[in-house]
Amino acid sequence: MTKKIMILPGDGIGPEIVSQVSKLIKWYNENTDLNFETENGLIGGASIDAYGHPFTDETLEKCRSADAILMGAVGGPKWDDVDFDIRPEAGLLKLRKELELFANLRPALVFDALIDASSLKPEIVKGLDIMIVRELTGGIYFGEPRGIETLKNGERRGFNTQTYTTSEITRIGEVAFELAKKRSNKVHSCEKANVMESGKLWREEMTILHADKFKDVELEHMYADNCAMQLLRNPKQFDVIVTDNLFGDILSDEAAMLTGSLGMLPSASLGAINTDGKMHALYEPVHGSAPDIADQGIANPLATILSFSMMLRYSFGYKEHADRLDNAVQTILNRGLRTKDVMAKNCTEISTMQMGDEIISELSS
Ligand code: NAD
Repeated sequence: MTKKIMILPGDGIGPEIVSQVSKLIKWYNENTDLNFETENGLIGGASIDAYGHPFTDETLEKCRSADAILMGAVGGPKWDDVDFDIRPEAGLLKLRKELELFANLRPALVFDALIDASSLKPEIVKGLDIMIVRELTGGIYFGEPRGIETLKNGERRGFNTQTYTTSEITRIGEVAFELAKKRSNKVHSCEKANVMESGKLWREEMTILHADKFKDVELEHMYADNCAMQLLRNPKQFDVIVTDNLFGDILSDEAAMLTGSLGMLPSASLGAINTDGKMHALYEPVHGSAPDIADQGIANPLATILSFSMMLRYSFGYKEHADRLDNAVQTILNRGLRTKDVMAKNCTEISTMQMGDEIISELSS
């Protein structure tokens, strides 16, 4: 069956890295039984330049009807002075909000060949493979009331509201437990149940969900601050970590840095499965638009290629193809072929385009 992919290259290095995936898609169409149909659209600064808005309703509707979306990155100094509500990042927030992409999947995977890029000792991170599942559309970033007010005594007060409902906790919990079943069968649920009511509810609802539907998966509750410490002390104790929007923001960046290389980190943001069995999903590298290296042919496309691999795995269920693509990345790195950002002694530096070509020739071999 033909799968429709909406491609949003974005700004800065976005078009360069995304075009390596477009080459890959062409290769899959010509050399395998997979069949993809793609359409490109604008987001971020590129869309501001063309339409005066970072993400138009027309592009949103195309994303809504696609089977999956691949994005490069948005933003850059050119748009630093545009109004706050039409800045490039507002386009991405609109996409996530409109498609209700509530589950953010951030793998932290250490490739053997890049083990020296981590700031931790090799024996602590060797073989590391963690999946952080962050709730993305609720919690303190969206809770009301929020604001900055002036008190009677003239002092100012800033306030936000941390809020979660049973259904918000349960749906992110289900994503985490289902993922763990396909991995090492262990979930750490992280909150601050010791000092926050929303954390107490989170812990209770996760416990109920576990008892009701996922008894075969190991569940451990952990305070988020302890999780931050454990990630540095003994990260290999984790398989899947599920946590809220705020703690997930911080813990996923911390876990990502255990791997040492921003150009290698993919992500997925998934929505609920609709009644027709369809799930909205956005795949994008974790890094930004890297304007400092744009148009130089030196950007690392592997985070974007690995995001496409996540698409094959989570949107389309093409597990074997995803495994093969992940292995191709591993093989290329083992052969010492590197883009500038992960360059090391005795390795060969190659360009963004060459990296895309090497992955294709590895898949073809
Ligand atoms: P960044 O991730 O773009 O870059 C940080 C550093 O990492 C830079 O030195 C950059 O050259 C390097 N880098 C990033 N990706 C790389 C890759 N694939 N290959 C080689 N080197 C890479 O973060 P920043 O500089 O803070 O932000 C730049 C712009 O990106 C800003 O406008 C920011 O708002 C935006 N941004 C967008 C997203 C997104 O689209 N999801 C995420 C983060 C930042």
